[in-house]
Amino acid sequence: MTSQGRLVVKNAKYSEDFRPLDPKCNCYVCKNYTRAYIRHLIKANETFGIHLTSYHNLYFLINLMHQVQDAIEQDNLLEFRAAFFEEYGYNNDNGRNF
Ligand SMILES: [Zn+2]
Repeated sequence: MTSQGRLVVKNAKYSEDFRPLDPKCNCYVCKNYTRAYIRHLIKANETFGIHLTSYHNLYFLINLMHQVQDAIEQDNLLEFRAAFFEEYGYNNDNGRNF
């Protein structure tokens, strides 16, 4: 999961991608590891790769829930939802991919 949508780090196109999983994420994994390295770990069946992606995904979801909480408190949840879905790439046509 990234702010720009689902990312399957096992895909070959990430083998030389030295960006973090999500450039907008502030988690430990995104600050210290690249997509290429995490892909290498997963392809080599190193459980550390799964640990890193799990850490990032949990951080992403917890951060998202904090953002939802803030949007509810500021009474702009619908606007937040629309902006999140726009950046995430979600729409009714591809709803099953999420
Ligand atoms: Zn992250």
